Amino acid sequence: MPPTLDPELRRALAERVRYCQEMGIYDFYRREPRPSQSAAAVELAPESLTSTSSSASQSELREEMAARKSADVPAIAEENIFEIIAPKPEYGVADPVAALKLIREDLGDCTRCKLHKQGRKQIVFGVGNPRSELMFVGEGPGADEDAQGEPFVGRAGQLLNNMIKAMGLRREEVYIANIVKCRPPGNRQPERDECETCSPFLMRQIAVVKPKVIVALGATAAKNLLAINAPMTELRGRWYDFKPAGVRSDPSWPGARLAVTYHPAFLLRDPRQKGEAWKDLQMVMKYLGIEPPKKAAE
Ligand code: SF4
Repeated sequence: MPPTLDPELRRALAERVRYCQEMGIYDFYRREPRPSQSAAAVELAPESLTSTSSSASQSELREEMAARKSADVPAIAEENIFEIIAPKPEYGVADPVAALKLIREDLGDCTRCKLHKQGRKQIVFGVGNPRSELMFVGEGPGADEDAQGEPFVGRAGQLLNNMIKAMGLRREEVYIANIVKCRPPGNRQPERDECETCSPFLMRQIAVVKPKVIVALGATAAKNLLAINAPMTELRGRWYDFKPAGVRSDPSWPGARLAVTYHPAFLLRDPRQKGEAWKDLQMVMKYLGIEPPKKAAE
């Protein structure tokens, strides 16, 4: 299993990849692994140590060796860059239905993270209009979703449907997916390594759908998409510019704007926050130029 990336490092890498893409650079090549610098430093150490007698020089040498060892850390990150942006089967496929099918095939009967052996019935890939301007991203499948193979079909799904309807849209008109595609046992939150292993497939789905707006449902979705660790009170009520990390996206697509609102499951537990969620959705509607149906506006 590849090493887990720190979210900040992942974000920095994503920025670098995005910068390269804006410069028209899409193809990257894996460099042959170099002999370990730290190993070279250790080999040099005895000879170097005998060439000096002052303790100050030895101390400087130790610091230099430590610096060389720490300089090895980015080399691991460099390997990860190439992992992230390796060519994908859907690249160059213009039809989003076909492209999403290729991503699903690439996912296969996925065993990439431990959720595959913790009681999942099936992978819950995503559903909806593959050309939608609006995409909702939740946390992960629950029991109903696991049983039916579709995101947001349980009680929380019913509430999401009502939220979409209140916006004057139908469920079939938007695209819905989750950060992780397999049900975490006992409906626990997906863990960091699970999110980081699974979310590259979501990034590819986003790059295919090319929505104008993504609504992150809940803190887990928001934090994983934005690589920001902040409470919901700080995450909500503003726009973020978003481009999927680590994938080649259409150069004519400027990326999505991302808004954060409460997860419908949270709203079921605390209905008093529905008004706040409605404010978030109104912000989205205004940006997309959607007029609320009369009934919702009254
Ligand atoms: S959660 Fe994602 S990465 Fe983990 S096994 Fe399921 S599909 Fe694979």
